[in-house]
Amino acid sequence: MRLGVLGGTFDPIHAGHIAAAAAAERALALGRVLLVPSRLPPHRPESARVSPRHRLAMAALAAAEHPNWSASDIELDRDGPSYTFDTLSGLVAGGHDRSQIFFIIGADAFAEIATWSRYPAVLDLAHFAVVARPGITLDSLEKRVPDLADRMTTPDALKPQAPSLKAREKTRVILIEATTPDVSATEIRRRVHDGESIAGLVPDSVAAYIARHRLYVGTNLPPSPEASA
Ligand code: ATP
Repeated sequence: MRLGVLGGTFDPIHAGHIAAAAAAERALALGRVLLVPSRLPPHRPESARVSPRHRLAMAALAAAEHPNWSASDIELDRDGPSYTFDTLSGLVAGGHDRSQIFFIIGADAFAEIATWSRYPAVLDLAHFAVVARPGITLDSLEKRVPDLADRMTTPDALKPQAPSLKAREKTRVILIEATTPDVSATEIRRRVHDGESIAGLVPDSVAAYIARHRLYVGTNLPPSPEASA
């Protein structure tokens, strides 16, 4: 069965994450989707503002609205920063065939993949399902990560009945065209902090959770760009 894995800080999880995972689920006929909050984001350690357990709880609320989705604490139980290489290695060691794992990632994050820990080896542990994000087109990725251009393909090229990859065969970078909402966690944190509505930007259950636990209302947000300019 095909497994989709969407990693992120999910601080908080929002409609953009959900649309990206749903687009990959549809395009690739995924049987299961895991939402994996990261413990300490390696690239932006300062960015997680609420505890991992709150971020996991919000991911679980979002997952509950989709039949085959769940939130996973695999990155929360490890010490140190979260590296996708370790997460995917753990899934492969746990018996998942790498030809059946699809790491779901937004085009903005994929454009930075050459800076990741254990690049390019990390790419060999799963297929990468890259979903368009407002502001960055899939077409631009061949130029941004030219070394991977020969691995890029479309969802149609990977029929569900495709055989397992041979030992030396490369996993693919699958480009998924989708219109996801122009939402970011940064904008949601700012809105909550400034007392603005986040209705429609996160699932209702997540909005209720944020309100109940008074998340993002504290004074530890950085100044807005205008204020710091
Ligand atoms: P922040 O604003 O805090 O930087 P974010 O909104 O970018 O956060 P992350 O948790 O960093 O959210 O993102 C996790 C993954 O989801 C990344 O691969 C990212 O590219 C993808 N993603 C986030 N928002 C969208 C969106 N609107 N459309 C498509 N992919 C998205």
